[in-house]
Amino acid sequence: MATSSTHAELAKRHEAVMPSWLSLFYERPIEIASGDGCRVTDGEGRTYLDFFAGILTNMLGYNVPEVRDAIKAQADRGVVHTSTLYLIRQQVDLAEKIASLSGIPDAKVFFTASGTEANEAALLIATQYRRSNQVIALRNSYHGRAFATVGITGNRGWSASSLTPVNTIYAQSGYRFRSSFRELDDAAYIAACAEDLRELMVTSTSGDVACMIAEPIQGVGGFATPPDGLFAAYKEILDETGILFVSDEVQTGWGRTGDHFWGIGAHGVTPDAMTFAKGLGNGASIGGVVARGEVMDCLQANSISTFGGNPLSTAAANATLDYALSHDLQGNAARVGAVLIEGLRAACADLAYVGEVRGRGLMIGIELVAADGRTPDVAAAARVLEAARERGLLIGKGGLHGNCLRIAPPLTLTESEAREGLAMLVDALRTS
Ligand code: PMP
Repeated sequence: MATSSTHAELAKRHEAVMPSWLSLFYERPIEIASGDGCRVTDGEGRTYLDFFAGILTNMLGYNVPEVRDAIKAQADRGVVHTSTLYLIRQQVDLAEKIASLSGIPDAKVFFTASGTEANEAALLIATQYRRSNQVIALRNSYHGRAFATVGITGNRGWSASSLTPVNTIYAQSGYRFRSSFRELDDAAYIAACAEDLRELMVTSTSGDVACMIAEPIQGVGGFATPPDGLFAAYKEILDETGILFVSDEVQTGWGRTGDHFWGIGAHGVTPDAMTFAKGLGNGASIGGVVARGEVMDCLQANSISTFGGNPLSTAAANATLDYALSHDLQGNAARVGAVLIEGLRAACADLAYVGEVRGRGLMIGIELVAADGRTPDVAAAARVLEAARERGLLIGKGGLHGNCLRIAPPLTLTESEAREGLAMLVDALRTS
């Protein structure tokens, strides 16, 4: 009975049995039934071009033969043992690839099943390594939904608990549009943020900070994109006292930002650790931490993971990563992303409620504002989201105030798909 529910019944059952804080997109929520390439089809047979790709999880799009075959082949072997107690060949293969791609010297990799756990693990390691639970996070950040990670999330809308084990202070995020240094040029803005961090270190820490954790482009925060070099300026200050720098690459990794394989690449910084998840499994749940071996190995007690790096997820992840590298999806993100961002900037130039079009590669944010050019226009973002859907395009929404649109298609998006989606989005923006 339950499995043949109509759409309306399913939405009702969801509301009754799932927590109230798991809110759904759209006035009439979507059930995605299948997908192929950069398109998904809902339970009622309507197909959409997907410019949000499972919040960036499906970085190759849908129904990719290489990934499907890898998962099937593993299933055909009986799926087999999932935990870290035994050797898992494809887990070691994947760790070697990520260690080498990370650019971190003597890198070691620990796998998890999600981005939240990846950041929890990074915090555990950094706080142990430095014997301090003080963490510098950024305002407007999002790092996950568990006990410590909500404590380093600088956004009240997502920080579900203040009863956190981490002592967090918040530095300037690089979200210049909403910062008090808004009018400054890149160099002056970076200098102001760096000075602010120096002040924070003496006013708000006891000098023994474990790490700074930062998203190179803030995902949930509305794709807020700092000027290149901000994190180099921060790292210089952190290095003076040995504070670790952790780059949260959950949204920005795997070439999405186009010019660089990791988002932090734009800042010329080699972090002490990076966390990753989302796109790596192309829909299979996987995350992890890659860190300097000495930092990773600082934990003295044993640890174990039942699902981190399990055979099914790592089979999918190896196939996904190999595909992304062999098809130069980073280059595609740069090329097709430029079509989208330039097209959006040109089409929105005369739209007063578009305050900013920002981003890199296939990670593009649109900030919607009221007539004063600054007040967040939350209602407009909701309207454009619905209007885009009516036209057959799925996009994301977010930002500190919920007034930002987020464009993050699969990295396989072709130029003609980009132009098709652009036309729908521009039409939605112009008529909302
Ligand atoms: N870090 C960042 C930057 C994220 O965007 C997210 C998810 N939106 C997470 C961590 C948490 O990942 P997950 O949802 O897989 O736990």
